Amino acid sequence: MAKDKVSAEFGELLFTDADMQERLPKPTYRELMQVIKDGKALDLDIANEVAHAMKEWALEKGATHFTHWFQPLTGITSEKHDSFLTPNGDGTILMAFSGKELVQGEPDASSFPSGGLRATFEARGYTVWDPTSPAFIKDEVLCIPTAFISYTGEALDKKTPLLRSQVALEAQAKRVLALFGREPHRVTTTIGPEQEYFLIKESDYAARPDLILTGRTLFGCAPVKGQELEEHYFGAIRPTVNEFMKELDDELWKLGIPAKTKHNEVAPCQHELAPIFEEGSVAIDDNLLTMEKMKLLASHHGLVCLQHEKPFEYVNGSGKHNNWSISADGRNLLEPGPHPEDNLQFLVFLAMLVAAVDEHADLMRMSVASAGNDHRLGANEAPPAIVSVFLGDALSPVVDALIKKESVEAAEATTIDLGIPQLPPVLQDNTDRNRTSPFAFTGNKFEFRMPGSQQNLSDPNVVLNTAVAEQCERFVDYVAARSDEPFLTVAMRFVRHTFRDHQRIIFDGNGYSSEWEEEAHRRGLPNLKTTPDALAALMDADNIALFERYGVLTEAELHARFVAKAEQYAKLINIEANCMVDMARRLYVPAISSYAGDLATAVAAKAELGVASKAEKALVARLTSGIDAVWHLADELEEAASKASAATNPAEQDMLCRDEVIAAMEALRAEVDALEPVVGDRWWPVPTYNTMLYYV
Ligand code: ADP
Ligand code: MG
Repeated sequence: MAKDKVSAEFGELLFTDADMQERLPKPTYRELMQVIKDGKALDLDIANEVAHAMKEWALEKGATHFTHWFQPLTGITSEKHDSFLTPNGDGTILMAFSGKELVQGEPDASSFPSGGLRATFEARGYTVWDPTSPAFIKDEVLCIPTAFISYTGEALDKKTPLLRSQVALEAQAKRVLALFGREPHRVTTTIGPEQEYFLIKESDYAARPDLILTGRTLFGCAPVKGQELEEHYFGAIRPTVNEFMKELDDELWKLGIPAKTKHNEVAPCQHELAPIFEEGSVAIDDNLLTMEKMKLLASHHGLVCLQHEKPFEYVNGSGKHNNWSISADGRNLLEPGPHPEDNLQFLVFLAMLVAAVDEHADLMRMSVASAGNDHRLGANEAPPAIVSVFLGDALSPVVDALIKKESVEAAEATTIDLGIPQLPPVLQDNTDRNRTSPFAFTGNKFEFRMPGSQQNLSDPNVVLNTAVAEQCERFVDYVAARSDEPFLTVAMRFVRHTFRDHQRIIFDGNGYSSEWEEEAHRRGLPNLKTTPDALAALMDADNIALFERYGVLTEAELHARFVAKAEQYAKLINIEANCMVDMARRLYVPAISSYAGDLATAVAAKAELGVASKAEKALVARLTSGIDAVWHLADELEEAASKASAATNPAEQDMLCRDEVIAAMEALRAEVDALEPVVGDRWWPVPTYNTMLYYV
């Protein structure tokens, strides 16, 4: 039977397992699988054979170049293209690609943020093949996913700690499962990232320096119509957008990315794409590739894809929900399962998750901190800056009952009667989704809703994986210390005590309410409202000890990450401030002045004729005082920004940005936005929200 178009094209540009089986000699394939699946060291002979097969495959698909594709601390992907071309010396060429070229690259690392890490060691950086993520072809370039490290092996990227955290979690989770009599070959995390984005017209984008330079509108009064009619979410998709989405799906499918769901989101012009979940680091690679394709393909349809967390004030911003679970040989460990003994194992993992999030709420918050995401968290459209866990109607009563019942009776332990025979079916039907919770259990996975739309999801998953690895080890130790008691009794007690000790993090109510903020304060939960507040967690001694214990990040690497994030925040705010000053002086003031001038001329001309409009006269006065105010506020913003830039270290710069620069930005914006509704449309220098958000 002939394949349908999608099945035929799916993964066409991905060097899949099937391609490797077909093209590699059997022993080579087997060895490579041991490298990929069991973490065995890679031998150069094998690398040479794989490189050859990969190149032949890529040439057949029309590729001319190869690149090591990596994720520096900026979070976005980087690449440098080298052609396969090798001169034979007689004027002819050979298309060659060696095992060494596959395994290791040496980009000029000095132009990537290192948080000061590289300066203390060596300027060189290496990209190292990550064989767990398949190679792919993008625009005639064979892309090899890699990790990026310094000469001495320090992580200079987002991927290295992610891979390390996956290794740590796998090792510790296997120890837990062994106690339940299970010996899975592999334990992995699964991630399904739901990507939100905006699409606007290219011509509008091109007329807005703020969008071009910072990814968001720094000015703009509220549109006449916002999202109050609640008509956009899941609404019929506009034809242009639909064409874009179709092309995007096709391109992603060719790359083997399992794009599944597409729909309109809450804000006008806002949309979402959700793929089917994949293994941790592969899901993140695919998300980055998806984001890149979105930007590129939008241009084919006269559109621009905005991935900033808050492109427009007054309507919702964009997030990226990180659906997360843990799986043993393909079996989801957060699936309650049909048998009571599965329930106990499930409850152990659930309890460990709750404890991990409670103990490291500060790190979870840190992992999503950015200048862009500060506009969302706590702004009544996204979860608050307070991390809490939602368990839902089905599970919360179970947990409450477990906590209240202090003593564990032997009889109960032997039959493992949890008193909740309905647990599995109830959970499966649990469609109760509290959209205001930052970390929600949604039936068989957790959904972390704090990440911002433009961020690389590695950071939150590094924190989550490492924090859960720690809890796994605690559980194993807890059981070992009680080896004279039956395992099931001990495991049950662990579940009770863990839920009891971490009850404060569980919250099923409305996360957007001010009562919750007060309640969370009483419970002692951290409420880190801004990026500078949140970043401090990276330098906390307990947190450093956690990452060092599991070999995920060293103190030096953490310090570098702190510096890189702090610098990035200050630089972004500084660019926004400069852009605002520039737009105020060179776009808004001249426009307002021109309108006021035209009006004044008209007023004078009319006065000669003996007619006068009070409104026109008042408007000239209003515009004139507005110009003075805008000019003055731009001066103040410039001063605040240069004061922040002059501060000696990035942490201090961040504090000044947070406390002074942002306030000055808001004041300038308020004045310009207040003038927008009284300036004639054809004088206004940039497209307005009404235009940008409502196009056909
Ligand atoms: P929502 O109501 O939030 O849209 P969906 O059921 O559509 O929820 O799932 C959202 C995302 O969660 C999808 O990307 C899906 O593949 C992913 N997902 C489902 N199961 C798992 C799992 N076990 N691990 C990780 N992600 C998962
Ligand atoms: Mg979701």
